[in-house]
Amino acid sequence: AIAFEGVEKNFGSLKVLKGISGEIYRGEVVAVIGSSGCGKSTLLRCFNRLEAINGGRLVVNDIDISRPNLNRNVLRQLRSQVGMVFQQFNLFPHLNVLDNLTLAQQKVLGKSKKESAQLAAQYLEKVGLSEKANVYPEQLSGGQKQRVAIARSLCMNPQIMLFDEPTSALDPELVGEVLRVMQQLAADGMTMIVVTHEMLFAREVANRVMFLHQGQIEEQGSPREVLVSPRSDRLRTFLSRLN
Ligand code: ATP
Ligand code: MG
Repeated sequence: AIAFEGVEKNFGSLKVLKGISGEIYRGEVVAVIGSSGCGKSTLLRCFNRLEAINGGRLVVNDIDISRPNLNRNVLRQLRSQVGMVFQQFNLFPHLNVLDNLTLAQQKVLGKSKKESAQLAAQYLEKVGLSEKANVYPEQLSGGQKQRVAIARSLCMNPQIMLFDEPTSALDPELVGEVLRVMQQLAADGMTMIVVTHEMLFAREVANRVMFLHQGQIEEQGSPREVLVSPRSDRLRTFLSRLN
């Protein structure tokens, strides 16, 4: 679903991604780990073109997004196929939950109010929040907000979901409910790339764990290989600091 070859990303003179290559397969769940500043968010943002890359080749769902200038239709197609969930939910505060879920369906996909509300109801049920359709984001807990954000993303019918530390802003007791929704999504076959500090999630749900170090893939493999029997010293040091 995603192929990347020699991908480079700079911010001015700062080289953040230094020629990263690899592939994310359909239905795969990849956990991305690494120290602060190593380029995890940047890599994710390149995948849905929130950032344009400076070098290399990047193909997402057969769409080549390597070029510096992308046509608006191509960008729109990409954005509807690749959903993203952030640490800070990013719900629209002035809209109730239902309207948060239907707005983009109507504006971007051109669906009717009724049709978009039906799909919204379906995904609200999936994340266990059917009874919250008419409340406003400020009336929700952090875990509920994040589940709404996931449901909103799913309403666009994406083929790939990107998660950037989706549970990092949550109180510990709310982390589980969000991880369970993500686990269900993975079980349904969604292709997912998840930047996370939740090693339990990486271990239980990911098919592959990718460890980034200073803008390069230092080590990757099955959760067992990477988390239980790390080969590189850098990865060993990183893991030992988590506990
Ligand atoms: P964290 O775990 O703290 O979220 P990260 O691995 O996600 O870290 P990135 O956010 O990808 O790291 O940032 C990688 C580097 O790029 C950092 O040095 C950061 O300061 C820099 N950077 C990120 N975005 C920008 C930007 N828009 N402009 C300039 N520098 C940036
Ligand atoms: Mg980050």
